[in-house]
Amino acid sequence: MAQIINLFWFRRDLRLDDNVGFFNALKSKNPVLPIFIFDSEILDKLPKNDARVSFIYENLQKMHDELEDNFSSGMAIFHGKPVEIFEKIIEKYTIQSVFTNHDYEPYATKRDQEIVHFLQEKNIEFHTFKDQVIFEKNEIIKKDGTPYVVYTPFMKTWKEEFKSIELTIFESEKLLDNLVKNIDFPNLTLSEIGFTNSTQKVLPYTVSQKLIQEYEETRNFPDKDATSRLGPHLRFGTVSVRKMIQKAIAEDNEIFWQELIWREFFMQILWHFPQTASQSFKPKYDKILWRNNEEEFKSWCEGKTGYPLVDAGMRQLNETGFMHNRVRMLVGSFLCKHLLIDWRWGEAYFAEKLHDFEMASNVGNWQWVAGSGVDAAPYFRIFNPTSQIEKFDKKLDYIKKWIPDFHEFTYPKPIVEHTFARERCLKVYKEAVS
Ligand code: FAD
Repeated sequence: MAQIINLFWFRRDLRLDDNVGFFNALKSKNPVLPIFIFDSEILDKLPKNDARVSFIYENLQKMHDELEDNFSSGMAIFHGKPVEIFEKIIEKYTIQSVFTNHDYEPYATKRDQEIVHFLQEKNIEFHTFKDQVIFEKNEIIKKDGTPYVVYTPFMKTWKEEFKSIELTIFESEKLLDNLVKNIDFPNLTLSEIGFTNSTQKVLPYTVSQKLIQEYEETRNFPDKDATSRLGPHLRFGTVSVRKMIQKAIAEDNEIFWQELIWREFFMQILWHFPQTASQSFKPKYDKILWRNNEEEFKSWCEGKTGYPLVDAGMRQLNETGFMHNRVRMLVGSFLCKHLLIDWRWGEAYFAEKLHDFEMASNVGNWQWVAGSGVDAAPYFRIFNPTSQIEKFDKKLDYIKKWIPDFHEFTYPKPIVEHTFARERCLKVYKEAVS
């Protein structure tokens, strides 16, 4: 008879420590089979040298080695459609329960419903846990029961609620004895899932005392590279959000802490309003007559608009998979307002390129810059791409780093004149929203 086991399904929580769902699985009486599925529905849409896939793969291998070397176990790694993979696993093992952590994105919610249905038919229980946020879904709502759509009151209630809970760390790493031994599935290579090793690398994060303490003064200057780079690590769960919140509290930095709350703000927005992944939160903004000029979009993507801070940002993104937050706001505003290109085009480009791409934060921030989202900048607030240099890159260090030909004749002339573009934007937006 097949061995009776429980299964833990890793998704966006790629770590062995402080993992809520994994902790609960390991506490149960049956040995646990840890699995990861490279979901073909997601992978098929990505470039074959995607740095995020390499990052996931490398982390899975590290976890696998740790489990193999110390616990005679390992990660069972699959490629395909989740339901089909589950079918394959139950041919080898009798599964009593599947454990996993919540994933709030619209595709994931739909996928999980299919899995629940499939497992129910086989009499297998499905247990899910909150792991990637401190507060989820309806946990922070207004007194009248509706979701917050403005950040500051959300953040204040978040902090109030936080005082009333005990922040628990779930030491899953201490329970690894309860794993299925001698796992009987081959360890896939990256090429077996159709990908190559990316030359772009997801950089490690830094939450040193110095960085967090100085965050407020330095975070707005792109040349200083003084932000944590936590984005992809929170996205794929290679770090625990609870430990990062603890760190922010220990270093007593409210501003850094509030950035982590922005992340949860946008996550609950996407959960409450899943349609905003593709529709403007404020419906009037979907009446804007975007120009959507493809040549201009190409120049923006390639960092060839002739506006140096915009171009430096886009080149940093293309070369490294990262762009500084200040510059993200500027390039976003420039695309939607100066060029009148639909925020969805910019959102899709960022989704392909950013190592820290996170649907909730990307959509939320894009709608913020376009003016169409929750708590968004008013539409008549249009960043001046030249005076932004004065404010944030006065010595041109960031610009020169990413645009080596900045002073050469090869560097393009501005794609559009600022005052003209500003007036045009105001007119088009006003027609749609007033
Ligand atoms: P730090 O400044 O060190 O902040 C720490 C963490 O706080 C971040 O890693 C992130 O998890 C969170 N955070 C900080 N600012 C924000 C914010 N405005 N919204 C939500 N969370 C925030 N962030 C993403 O994580 N994924 C995205 O896809 C994304 N797309 C964006 C698109 C646009 C147009 C803009 C203007 C911003 C976007 N951001 C996105 C927010 C922000 O730019 C990044 O989180 C930040 O630059 C990542 O660098 P860091 O990890 O060094 O951040």
